Order: sequence, then structure tokens, then C-alpha cells
Amino acid sequence: MRKTVLLLHTGGTLGMVGGRPHTLKPAPFAEALRARVPELTELANVQLELFSNLDSSEVQPEAWLALARRLHQRLPEVDAAVVTHGTDTLAYTASALSFLLPGLRRPVVLTGSQRPLQEVRSDARLNLIDAVTAALRGPPEVTVCFDSHLYRGNRTVKVKVAEYDAFASPNFPPLGTLGVHAHFLPGLRPRGRPGLLPGLETRVFLLKVFPGLDPALPLLLLPKLRGLVVEAYGAGNVPVEERSGRSLLPLFRAARARRIPVLVVSQAPRNAVELGLYQGGAAIAEEGAIDGGDLTAPAAVTKLMCGLALHPDGPALRRYLETSVAGERS
Ligand code: ASP
Repeated sequence: MRKTVLLLHTGGTLGMVGGRPHTLKPAPFAEALRARVPELTELANVQLELFSNLDSSEVQPEAWLALARRLHQRLPEVDAAVVTHGTDTLAYTASALSFLLPGLRRPVVLTGSQRPLQEVRSDARLNLIDAVTAALRGPPEVTVCFDSHLYRGNRTVKVKVAEYDAFASPNFPPLGTLGVHAHFLPGLRPRGRPGLLPGLETRVFLLKVFPGLDPALPLLLLPKLRGLVVEAYGAGNVPVEERSGRSLLPLFRAARARRIPVLVVSQAPRNAVELGLYQGGAAIAEEGAIDGGDLTAPAAVTKLMCGLALHPDGPALRRYLETSVAGERS
């Protein structure tokens, strides 16, 4: 039987017009889709819904939640969903959806493009066709389909601005390849009933450590925060030498005193944090820092936002962050 795929358009370059020397701007999408990729309807019964038409730098957590609600509502009536999205924050939306929609039973495939669908040398047409193919045959989880690869959504990062292979999944192998033949792995096994998280706590900050960082600055932010992600060096190190005047230990102590969870991930894209390996990491672990393993920064931020909404108390939140809930950490 012919399958039905919900196509939710949120915006991004894929649906824009313009380009050098003019600015790229969102444009009417339904007409462009019909004109440029009419063959999509040969693959499936495609139900297009115009969710928004934004550059993804304008996509905020409220939109993730609205998108998750819409998917939760519509997925039982269709076989799968494809979400078109700008590439700039696509990894954040994919990660957020993977946490907001636990127990997913159907594929949700995000895609976008580096050049608008309206252009002749655009990657949009193939990405759309591949995304619908992955929605029909790929695993029942939130994925990203881009440049002939299917990735687990919460493992992706945007790595290129002006080449077609814009996404990578540095710590997890692709869930599918779409060459002459399309191959897919089974992916996650759905656990529990399909759910929808009620919300997110957005009072979260992502701090990237760098030599010369004045510890007084993040200390000023603490009273406004409910959670902090620290992108530390290598295995999870930060400066802790008091004499330099730039030790970050007081920040971790102050966060602990305020019961603000601090999730530590690495600036190095490959491999995982190991807080006991060096003195800097061991010292912050003693102050309660939570080991983020090989979480990407987008996965860490969105998981912390979801975790804080789900588990306001310390030990349950720590357990949630330290274990894999949607395949996001090894
Ligand atoms: N600025 C665009 C966006 O994220 C970039 C893209 O889609 O490639 O919406």
C-alpha cells in the first residue's frame, strides 16, 4: 500500500530565493516544491504542512516544542514525517525533538540544503528525495538526511558552511547511506509508549572555555541560570590553578552551592570526556560536575533543557544526563 509522509516545512535555505549579490530570503514553498520536485509524489503520498518559514537562526525552543506537539499529534495518522529546516540550527532541533518525543514509533527525518531548491545546481532536490526515502525505509527515530547520508539526529553537528556535506556525526556511524542503492540500519528500538515532554527549561547557558577566560564573568551569570553546559578542553579539563587568577573551580563550587547542574562536554569533536583523567577534570568532578561523555554541544544543551523540565531534583536529573535516553551518548 502507498505510504503517507507528512512534510513539515519550517524554512531555511532550501525554501529561500535570492543569493549573491542579494540576501537570501524565505519564499513561498508549496509552488516551488511542486515545480522542482514533482516526483516526490511518486514515492509516497506527501502531505505538505507549512509550519513556519524562517531562517533557522530564528528557531527558538518554543518552536521545538510546537513542532514536537504537531508531530506527536500527526504521526499516528501517517507513516513517517520529513521536516525541512535551515542548516544553521538543524542539529539543535533534531536533538531537541529526540528528547521531546520519547518512545517514537515512526521515522522523523530532518533535512535542508546548502543551495535553494529554486537553483539549478541545488542539493535540495536530492536531499528531499533521500529524506522521503529514509522516512519510508529508515529507522523509527529522529534522523538527519543530508548529502546521501542518514545520521542519528542527536549525534549531528554542522561542520561546513559552503560544501554539500554540511553535517557530520563525529561519534556515531551513519544510520544509512543513499548511493546507487539505499541502505539503512535498524536504529533504536522504540521503548515505552510514544510520549511528549511537557516543556523545556531554557535558563541554560553554554560556556566555551578558552585561555584568558575571566572566571568573574560566568560567575555573574549564575543567578540567572538553572543549568550550565561547559565545553571544556579535551578530556574535560578546565584551568584550576589558583595562582593564575583564572581558576574555574570557584564557578563549579558556586554552581553546586546554588544546585545548578553543570554538564561537561569536550571542545574536541571526536571521543568522550573522561573527568578523572587529569587534575582539572578530577577537581571539577569533585565539585559535582556531570560527565557529558561524547554528547555534542547541541545534544548537551537540549538534553539539559529537557532534563531540567522533567527532573527538577538533583539525583534523578544526574541519572537522566548520564545515561543514554535516545541514543545520544555512547
Ligand atoms: N541560514 C540558513 C538557515 O539556517 C542556512 C541554511 O539553511 O543552510 O536557515
